[in-house]
Amino acid sequence: MARILDEAVSLSDSQQLVKRNIQDICSNFDAEYWREKATEDEYPHEFVDTLTEHGWMGILVPEEYGGAGMGTRETVVMMEEIAAGGGGFSAAQAVHGGVYNSVPITEYASEEMKDDLLPGVAEGKTSIQAFGLTEPNAGSNSPAMETRAERDGDEYVVNGQKIWISRVDVSDYIVLVARTTPRDEVEKRTKGISMFLVDLDDAVQQGALEMETIPKSAGELVHSYELWFDDLRVPAENLIGEEGNGFYQVLDGLNEERLVIAAECIGLGRLALERAVDYANEREVFGNPIGSNQAIQHPLAEAYARLQAAKQLTYNAADRAASDDAVDLGAQANAAKFLAADAAFQAADAAVQTHGGFGIAKEYDVERYLREARLTRLVPITQQLALNYLGEQVLGLPRSY
Ligand SMILES: Cc1cc2nc3c(=O)[nH]c(=O)nc-3n(C[C@H](O)[C@H](O)[C@H](O)COP(=O)(O)OP(=O)(O)OC[C@H]3O[C@@H](n4cnc5c(N)ncnc54)[C@H](O)[C@@H]3O)c2cc1C
Repeated sequence: MARILDEAVSLSDSQQLVKRNIQDICSNFDAEYWREKATEDEYPHEFVDTLTEHGWMGILVPEEYGGAGMGTRETVVMMEEIAAGGGGFSAAQAVHGGVYNSVPITEYASEEMKDDLLPGVAEGKTSIQAFGLTEPNAGSNSPAMETRAERDGDEYVVNGQKIWISRVDVSDYIVLVARTTPRDEVEKRTKGISMFLVDLDDAVQQGALEMETIPKSAGELVHSYELWFDDLRVPAENLIGEEGNGFYQVLDGLNEERLVIAAECIGLGRLALERAVDYANEREVFGNPIGSNQAIQHPLAEAYARLQAAKQLTYNAADRAASDDAVDLGAQANAAKFLAADAAFQAADAAVQTHGGFGIAKEYDVERYLREARLTRLVPITQQLALNYLGEQVLGLPRSY
């Protein structure tokens, strides 16, 4: 039977191949598997290992380094199917960093670093799942970061704090963003920031990294950490790209990644909607399936319409990603993320309502989908910040902050 929203977009041959393969993998991890992982706050190692064995962590790694050499359009399909396959946003987030952190390395790292790292990423022997940008005193205003990396001979010395950094526990390396020139010595606040590859084992062995898990209520099977760096010594050759240009390196590729996040939201919304439709057809009250009541049927139809619109925008933008200019792609990517997160939330909320009292029973999973859908409105960029982009950069309205 065709799945909900299969008809929303037409797929190229390579997209269809990705979709079939990911669906096959996901079919081996049922609802019980994901329920258990969420209940135990346990990272889905078995699922991630299977994706890795099939080469999917290297989807964006160029073929010359042993990866699949695919692009945004295939990654969008992969991440939508992973989320829709039962694990929701958490399943996608469990691998998101591993898939995406290869991009700045491919784009900006030295040939030596690429040769050293990328084949291992493609094979699944090297894990670069963690990305360290957010800080407690900067929040959404990332260029206000305070973590410093100061050059000392052939090393950088890193001091500072990061927060909400995900998947540190399943990473060999973190891609770390830190200020290399003080804010008052650069003409623009986005300058003087640099990107580094940090070996996490080495940091712990130096006694220069402390970390604590942040207990949380949504997306709990992917762990997030607060990190403190105290005189961490990083070899100068671990600089990724150009010193002082790191923030622009973060921005480059952000729109395409945002489309992938939108696809993860759509996958979660699909999952919630599919579960709700099944229940609405099965459950009988007053002698009829509850899905025959329009108070149940319409919110599900509305979820379908919203997800359909978000999916078409996301796939359309992903297909055009390589050829679009930055502002145009930014408009589409921010609109897609905003619409997809809201569509996922409405779908998950309708799914909970459809289940009545069982909507909050863990065994039906929809309460977990609702918590995850709420999370999608906060990360990796909040809905407000996505709207700020559209208001300022696309509509040309003045900035208030
Ligand atoms: C589960 C999870 C995983 C994460 N993983 C990572 C990770 O791996 N790496 C990483 O670097 N970061 C990570 N983050 C951090 C995430 O990107 C930030 O939480 C997010 O960008 C928001 O920053 P903040 O939490 O500091 O909110 P704040 O910036 O404090 O914002 C608080 C509220 O104020 C609003 N607000 C602030 N400024 C404005 C404005 N100018 N206009 C309108 N509204 C505004 C925001 O939209 C938000 O609603 C993660 C966060 C979570 C929750």
